[in-house]
Amino acid sequence: MQSLLKAQAFINGAWASASDTKTFDVTNPATGEKITAVSDCTADDAHEAVDAANAAFSAWKSALPQERAKLLRAWQNLIAEHADELAKILTSEQGKPLAEARGEIAGGIAMVAWAAEEARRYYGETIPPFKTGARAITMREPIGVVAAITPWNFPHSMITRKVAPALAAGCTVVLKPAEDTPLSALALAALAEQAGFPKGVFNVIPTSKPKDVGSVLTSSPLVRKLSFTGSTEVGRLLMQQCAPTLKRLSMELGGNAPFIVFDDADIAEAVKGAMASKFRNAGQTCICANRIFVQKGIYDAFAKALQKAIESLKTGNGMEEGVTTGPLINQDGVKKVQDLVADATAKGAKIALGGKKGKQGGTFYEPTLVLDADVSMRIAGEEIFGPVAALFPFADETEVIQMANSSEHGLAAYFYTRDIGRAFRVAEALEYGMVGINEPLLASEAVPFGGIKQSGFGREGGKQGLDDYTALKYALFGGL
Ligand code: ADP
Repeated sequence: MQSLLKAQAFINGAWASASDTKTFDVTNPATGEKITAVSDCTADDAHEAVDAANAAFSAWKSALPQERAKLLRAWQNLIAEHADELAKILTSEQGKPLAEARGEIAGGIAMVAWAAEEARRYYGETIPPFKTGARAITMREPIGVVAAITPWNFPHSMITRKVAPALAAGCTVVLKPAEDTPLSALALAALAEQAGFPKGVFNVIPTSKPKDVGSVLTSSPLVRKLSFTGSTEVGRLLMQQCAPTLKRLSMELGGNAPFIVFDDADIAEAVKGAMASKFRNAGQTCICANRIFVQKGIYDAFAKALQKAIESLKTGNGMEEGVTTGPLINQDGVKKVQDLVADATAKGAKIALGGKKGKQGGTFYEPTLVLDADVSMRIAGEEIFGPVAALFPFADETEVIQMANSSEHGLAAYFYTRDIGRAFRVAEALEYGMVGINEPLLASEAVPFGGIKQSGFGREGGKQGLDDYTALKYALFGGL
């Protein structure tokens, strides 16, 4: 058991201690217990990983797409074979219920499968002649060494959604996972090793010093692209750091998703949707419903039904059967939620349910329902990242569109209506990269995931997913 629980970095096809031999502890947020100590990679280790990825690039780029696809399929099969162990590692380091961890692994498998399929399909074009005796074509080429920096809220799927398309396109990768959750990343490296990827193609460097390692990844001229998922604040900083070397960038940053329930919605469906969107991963996703706007005519009925649904949640250790809501990732997360709820109540919102730390102690926070929130409250402008549903009453479509679009973010938005005209109008009016209409779960390997405005740019998944890892080359053949 636990053969995939790795404690060292994976650089150039070998398991390695940090250059200064230091380690950092990874703890279980549900129990506060240490799981293991992992290599605390340094700037030197980051350089070594980048050099390895750079050395591996030329052969990996030249490999036939079907060879890359074959290795990706082998990786996919190994992930599927070890799904149960991977889910347990994920829950132990991140806290989400085991059923959700299993779902995340299934999503990862689907993403690797998709990338393996797409590896053979990144077509170029022939351009109609524009000059006598000459022909022009385009081709897509892998961009080079990719640095990937990932967050703790989806420690498995945030990796597979970057690494699989990058490898499929012929790029090599250096991954820096989040310091709270490096174990899922190392387990994926162990399976990639078993799958037989050539050395240096995929490297994983855990660290508790993201700034040191991040500055190597962003400044190295050998790294041609940075794919980042995390906060808008860190995204801005990394973009600045990448400017001198003009790296290609994909930025999947914070969200502040509006979830709009119109008078004509199916209330039971809207409640189900709000529960799925808000409380998944204890509210710690960048596409979680953050501001739940409810039209005045159904506000009381919706609030009552939502309260009933929230009362049925079971908070606890994600390893236990029946638990729907795990702990928050760390004390900073708890503090943020407490501050937002305190600010909302000070400004007149009402707590219908919860509103305090969980009785389990540690980083648990009770599923909470906040009523009568308004746009003056911090909860309207900031990502909650906790199990707190805040309801904002609204009068009509014009008002709610204005409120929904007033955020600096533009990642995901949701709304519920049975009116087909409104469905199209509102889908077009919302300034967001993704919109769910009567649908709370947007992510899939088959669709382009990503945002606009200060939620970033770049798309992960779908037929567009490989584009971000390729450069378009144009060639003109003359003298024909
Ligand atoms: P979150 O709020 O989700 O923790 P962060 O943006 O802080 O979001 O973290 C997302 C990822 O960015 C993590 O892997 C973290 O280690 C990394 N990170 C944070 N600060 C830096 C930095 N200065 N340079 C490079 N990576 C960073």
